[in-house]
Amino acid sequence: MSEKSKFLKKKAFVDRDYCVACGACTKVCPLGAIEIHSGIFAKVNLDKCVGCRKCEFECPASIIEMKVMEGENGKYDKKEEVS
Ligand code: SF4
Ligand code: SF4
Repeated sequence: MSEKSKFLKKKAFVDRDYCVACGACTKVCPLGAIEIHSGIFAKVNLDKCVGCRKCEFECPASIIEMKVMEGENGKYDKKEEVS
């Protein structure tokens, strides 16, 4: 395992069950990393998200949080996904 792949970073995680698809997060993201999926919930493009937290502060429902990622192009760390 390379040193880079061991690096842990955080990216935006949307709790879809409580998202009201208001679109506020999509407007503030400087990288266009969030879109409203099928008009139902916000979906984060993990390849684009840099974890700047702007969406987290903007969400009126407070259902965006930063979660630890595994690896350079990894998925959310399962240990962090307990609900
Ligand atoms: S954390 Fe920043 S880059 Fe990532 S989705 Fe939110 S606003 Fe966009
Ligand atoms: S700002 Fe919050 S409630 Fe609105 S679309 Fe984004 S995640 Fe959903």
